[in-house]
Amino acid sequence: MAVNTAAYQQLHDTLQAKQVTLVAVSKTKPVEDILALYELGQRDFGENYVQELVDKQPQLPGDIRWHFIGHLQSNKVKYIAPFVHLIHGVDSLKLLKEINKQGAKLNRVIPVLLQVHIAQEETKFGFSEAELQEVFDHPEIADWKHIQVRGLMGMASFTDHEDIIVKEFQYLKGLFDRYAQQKTTNITLEILSLGMSSDYQPAIANGSNMVRIGSLLFGARS
Ligand SMILES: *Cc1c(COP(=O)(O)O)cnc(C)c1O
Repeated sequence: MAVNTAAYQQLHDTLQAKQVTLVAVSKTKPVEDILALYELGQRDFGENYVQELVDKQPQLPGDIRWHFIGHLQSNKVKYIAPFVHLIHGVDSLKLLKEINKQGAKLNRVIPVLLQVHIAQEETKFGFSEAELQEVFDHPEIADWKHIQVRGLMGMASFTDHEDIIVKEFQYLKGLFDRYAQQKTTNITLEILSLGMSSDYQPAIANGSNMVRIGSLLFGARS
């Protein structure tokens, strides 16, 4: 088994001291690996693919908090809506509206993060600053009682240049601080989901309070 329990313990202690939530990203990894960390006390796990999450969830303990961190298509929301703890990658009003619709059917409020495009790569997803403003200004949003916007999520550029990554993190932290002041009934920004195995340290130094870490814990993905 490739789970690095020593790395987990160390990371867990460091993050706990800083009050940063660790989401263990288990995509492509078997349920045995997830259980190995569960037995050490880990409860927050992140998955990227709807089918994989739907397959794994019933095989694992019911008190796991499942984070959906991938790109979510509107037509697949219904499969994860009954149990998902937090959807990180919300990147359109259409998707937000669909999550609200599925939440209404289940009579539950589904917590979400809005993903902001901070990287240089066009292939990465997320709202621009102007689009984010449109979400906050949207006339219907206060009526969507079955979503709770709890924060922002971002992914930095894929680069070895830490100065570029830090600039992108700082940009998102600036937006986070600004929009955190615009509270409404169903929007309260408290969570900043930023940082992965390669960049969680600068992410935390620049305001992240939730990191999504996979390969450092579970080993490289094939
Ligand atoms: C896969 C993934 C991660 C974890 O990446 P690692 O480099 O393995 O830590 C974090 N966030 C998102 C959105 C991912 O897709």
